[in-house]
Amino acid sequence: MTAPRKSQTPAATASPEAPSCPAAVLAAAARAHVALQELSRTAALEAAGRGDGALDGAGLSLQWHPGSSPDDLAEAAFRFYAEAISEERLFRQGRVHCYACGEPACEHSAPPSPGAVCTGYESTGRPRWQEFFGYLLELGDERADRLFLERAEILARVVGRNRLIADQLTTFGRNAFTYRIWGQVVAGYLQVRNTRAALSAQVVEDKRHRLHLQVVATDELREALADAPDDRRSAFTRVYDALAEARNQLAALNSVWQHGNHRADAVTVRERAFAILRHLAHSIEQKGRQQQRRTSHAEMRGGQNRPVHKAYDDVVAATAQDFYTDRFKGSTIVAGRAGRVHAFNDTGRHVTSLMLTGDEFSRRCARGRYVPYAGGDPEAFRASVLARLPEADAPER
Ligand SMILES: [Zn+2]
Repeated sequence: MTAPRKSQTPAATASPEAPSCPAAVLAAAARAHVALQELSRTAALEAAGRGDGALDGAGLSLQWHPGSSPDDLAEAAFRFYAEAISEERLFRQGRVHCYACGEPACEHSAPPSPGAVCTGYESTGRPRWQEFFGYLLELGDERADRLFLERAEILARVVGRNRLIADQLTTFGRNAFTYRIWGQVVAGYLQVRNTRAALSAQVVEDKRHRLHLQVVATDELREALADAPDDRRSAFTRVYDALAEARNQLAALNSVWQHGNHRADAVTVRERAFAILRHLAHSIEQKGRQQQRRTSHAEMRGGQNRPVHKAYDDVVAATAQDFYTDRFKGSTIVAGRAGRVHAFNDTGRHVTSLMLTGDEFSRRCARGRYVPYAGGDPEAFRASVLARLPEADAPER
């Protein structure tokens, strides 16, 4: 059923040329029509803070059949007006959309200091920020002082949508899909040069109902994460990996959300999104602790485990499918046995060897870091490696 436009009154529908429609049916339709106009008005007011008159150009059209539920009608009408006030905008890296200015590049959209996290929106749709430490206190997190111990811990918290939009008015984007935050993880501190930096990782839905993991932080922190050394003892590498994992999980969830029935899936998908956020918070904290627990002794042991001496054997034994290109580092990777991985520069010089535990290797492939060797003939590359590998690297031949 399509809600008739306002100008189309029931009287106009009941033209003399259509005498076959009985008066009782016309009367019932007139009552339904009034009820639908009321639905349209209320939905517009609740979703956008405006009457549907102000949104006339929007052209609400509703599907109805005897089996559909009132909830379906409500959801469809509300969603329609929420979408009508939304804009399709490219997200800016590291920033939050500012509904007050209507853009993601104003002075309000970025953290005002490296240690600030996003705490949602002010009534006027302006992003709100707070020092991570103070926000943890506000959330009643008793661990906050651990941020300042000599061996400081990295802490993380999940924050839900309701808290973020508690003060935001409907007229300033409360229900909009321009940048709809479902929830976020706030985490810190990471030491970037001489400053303590924090981040907010948000699950955000856009106007086309795609889900994004938006990492909100200063450029310096985002660069430090992107340039993290290929060393799992680095807090940056661990946090980077945790974010990459969350992004992969969210991409999988996104395809369910994109192709499913929004109303039927809403609860499940939201729960799964929060499971991703909880897992992200947990793994950021765990990775932070692991970093702190490591002693120099453990690092030394880690060094002894480096499988450099196996490089020669592994390169000899590698099949063509064991050669990869590392798109982040621009190096060539040879996958060896038992999780050993060897990296070479483009002239075949051995750069480093490492152990990738668990599913780390497949995760690097899944996120497009390791791709099948893109440098030409693997045999030619193998020859250049073997010609260069020093004898000392092949003690077990
Ligand atoms: Zn602004």
